[in-house]
Amino acid sequence: MRLTDIFQKIDSNHDRYVRELKELLAIPSVSTYSHHRGDVRRAAEWVLNHCKRIGLEARLEDTGGHPVVIASRCPHQNRPTLLVYGHYDVQPAEPEEEWNTAPFQPTVRDGFLYARGASDDKGQFFTYLKALEVILAVTGDLPINVKILVEGEEEIGSPHLGAFLKKNRELLRADAIAISDGSQFSEDVPAITYGLRGLSYMQITVQGPRTDLHSGSFGGIAPNPINALVSILAQLKNPDGTIAIPGFYDTVAPLEPWEREAMGALPFSEEKLKAYLGLERLCEEPGYSALESKTARPTLDINGIWGGFSGEGAKTVIPAKAGAKVSMRLVPHQKPRDIAALFTQYVTRLCPKEVSLQVNALHGAEPVLVSRDLPQVQAAVRAIHAGFGVAPVFIREGGSIPIVNLLKEVLELEAILLLGWGRPDDGAHAPNERFSLSDFKKGIRSAAALFFELHSCCCA
Ligand SMILES: [Zn+2]
Repeated sequence: MRLTDIFQKIDSNHDRYVRELKELLAIPSVSTYSHHRGDVRRAAEWVLNHCKRIGLEARLEDTGGHPVVIASRCPHQNRPTLLVYGHYDVQPAEPEEEWNTAPFQPTVRDGFLYARGASDDKGQFFTYLKALEVILAVTGDLPINVKILVEGEEEIGSPHLGAFLKKNRELLRADAIAISDGSQFSEDVPAITYGLRGLSYMQITVQGPRTDLHSGSFGGIAPNPINALVSILAQLKNPDGTIAIPGFYDTVAPLEPWEREAMGALPFSEEKLKAYLGLERLCEEPGYSALESKTARPTLDINGIWGGFSGEGAKTVIPAKAGAKVSMRLVPHQKPRDIAALFTQYVTRLCPKEVSLQVNALHGAEPVLVSRDLPQVQAAVRAIHAGFGVAPVFIREGGSIPIVNLLKEVLELEAILLLGWGRPDDGAHAPNERFSLSDFKKGIRSAAALFFELHSCCCA
């Protein structure tokens, strides 16, 4: 069987793959620092040349910020196209003194490759390049069409990617997108992330008197914006922790029985989590497990609150202003814009008449849910099973991944395959970031299998 030949070749090439990845990891492509601008470009050029070397058509595109590498090989008119997304930029390495070996001198220890970017994301997107290389070497052809998009601004919020995608919508057209920029559920429990929470991030400002006042001279007649603010905030949630905003839950899609079963079967320890957080008890939503509450149910949290005097000593003041920031994590099919409107209506109604209120929506992100019944998702299940030797679990993430929303919206794609090859303890964004060499190999195998599985699922 062809896949066996390919897996054998991946094994025998392993040392070379690691050597090549080390070259890329040695380039300090820290996108946030202007003094690394040249290094960021050097990393882009390295990826560009590598894509060309393995037989892809490739070019660098300027975006107004750091360049994007676009590569493709689309030999088959009537076969599906997979778009692979990755990023070649990395987080700063500070605090460097906490690294056991220098962050940009990639080092192998105990089966792990240590370097900034090893897992996030150079090591992970590189698996697709190696998979393509080996398929072309063994078969001389690709089973499907492939497009590669590797950007250099992910770690700074992809400020230029939206405009770039819109301009190149046709060029990037695909039937599915694969993103390996995350992790398995835990070691040897590979996962497909099929749900991401969205976000509605709000700011409330309460205005009282035009200036700060002496609470002795004016207390009793001047309305206090902090008193008003805390009374509003206190009514955002019910005593049982559920959210009190009318209509908030109306569009929430209920968890399906298979999801609850799948989540219940995950190797998740509430005790370990409590120990890690230093908590005696968690505050999960009534009727839902901790894992369900932290990934698949909506939330409301006050993230910051200000007003008056909180410095050392005493200052008995009635402040002119007080404010708070509130974030709500959303689940399908809540829309950030609708939730922001419900929030605004509710707090406006709660606000005492003697003060004035301003509510601003600071940021919104749509929740994402990918149907596991899509043929491309089932293809990914089989590919990971082949590559890792075990079937993946289906998980939801509590956070948002802005680029996923961007790609989904601009390219109008349903089949978004979030296939993290890393591990939760790889130390992404932290000192001593690493990528397991066995995950690296299994990632290449899975990526290779994915190209064939997408061919058989969608070309039959
Ligand atoms: Zn990343």
